[in-house]
This record gives sequence, structure tokens and C-alpha cells, in this order.
Amino acid sequence: MAVYIVLLGPPGAGKGTQAEKISEAYHLTHVSTGDLFRENIRENTELGKKAREYTDNGLLVPDEVTIAMVEDRLKKDDCKNGALLDGFPRTIKQAEALDKMLEESFASKVTVVPCIEVNEEDLVKRISGRRMCKNGHVFHIHTKPSKVEGVCDICGEPLYQRADDNEETVQTRLNAYKESTEKLIDYYGNKDVIRKVDGNQKIDEVTKAMLAVIKAEI
Ligand code: AMP
Repeated sequence: MAVYIVLLGPPGAGKGTQAEKISEAYHLTHVSTGDLFRENIRENTELGKKAREYTDNGLLVPDEVTIAMVEDRLKKDDCKNGALLDGFPRTIKQAEALDKMLEESFASKVTVVPCIEVNEEDLVKRISGRRMCKNGHVFHIHTKPSKVEGVCDICGEPLYQRADDNEETVQTRLNAYKESTEKLIDYYGNKDVIRKVDGNQKIDEVTKAMLAVIKAEI
């Protein structure tokens, strides 16, 4: 059966950084809804036009738009063995839609949900130092600097600061997490697939803990 891992955790917890390592270790395609929205915004597609007003302001893009985008993505060939979902689901409605699509279209279900926990006061600090390239590779000016300043180690693309990585928008994003996404901890807890991981450790330690909880389930 295909493997579907859902990464949960507040903005700035390190989901993107950990996703790179997990997808490499398990040869699983990394599906980041944030990256998909940013790509569509960059290419000025219809979807990008719809998403932009939300992402720029730190608000959640409507469920219908997000769910349809993920379903299309999961049907692509590189997801035939499953996927590592980063940033989706973020609402109960999305989680229910995911369960339904996995069951009906892929005869599968969510395998495990590692949830990265980080002290709230550290999140804003982490986000303000974050830099990324257009391919979604993530760096941090203090904790994970690129070898050459402003250039991605992996693909050589320029690094930039996300438009929504400013203090005001971060607060809105944290609120969206608390109001909508945190409810998923209970949702997946009831299905006994949630596994909490201490995200206040060094990046490599977090990776070890993540790989351990995933290995125990697949
Ligand atoms: P991220 O890169 O995961 O922090 O996502 C960046 C932004 O994209 C979020 O602040 C939302 O505006 C939007 N977004 C990403 N994933 C979702 C989702 N599952 N549901 C709604 N909006 C999303």
C-alpha cells in the first residue's frame, strides 16, 4: 500500500526542512501546498491569482481550491507510491477530504502524522531568518546558512525571503494555526496516527526523531 505521511506543526516549526530529509530517506515525493501556491503565483496562473490575496495576508486559501489542487497533485505519476504532505491538511474539512480521496481514489489512508512541537516564542525568530529558493529548499541565516550567501546549496537558485515571512503576517498565520490546524492533533489522535516530536532540538536531532516515528509505522 502507498505511504502517506502528513507533517503537522506550526509555521516555522521546520516542516519544510525535515520534509527534504524524509523524502530523501523514503524516496517519497514532497508535496508542499505552500510551494504549490507560490509556484502558481510566480507563474500567474488562475489558481495563483485566486490564492495570492490569501497567502500574502497569511490567511488560509479556501478549502475547495486547496483540496482540488492536492487531489490533482496526488494523481501524478510521481505520487504513485504515496507522498509526504507538508502544509496540508490545515483544516478539519481538508483532513476529511484527504481521508475520502485516499480511500476512494487510492485505496489507501494516512499512515502516520509526525507533529513537530516548538516553543511559540521561537517561531517568529525562526521565520524571520528563513530564506528559500524557488524550488522550495529552505535555509536559515543562523541555524542553516547556505554555503554561499544568497545562493541555494542544492540547485544554485537565488535565495529570497518569503513575502509572508514578516512579523505582522506571521502573527496571522500563527492564529490560523491555533484556530484551525491545531484541531487536527485531536482528529489524527483519535485515529491513533499522531506522533509528537520535540522540535526544539538541533535540526539533525529532530530528523532522527522524525525518522524513528515514521519507521515504526511503515
Ligand atoms: P506554507 O508555505 O505552508 O507556510 O504556506 C504558505 C501559505 O499558503 C499559507 O499561509 C496559506 O496562505 C497558504 N496555504 C498553504 N497550505 C494551505 C492549506 N492546506 N490550506 C489553506 N491555505 C494554505
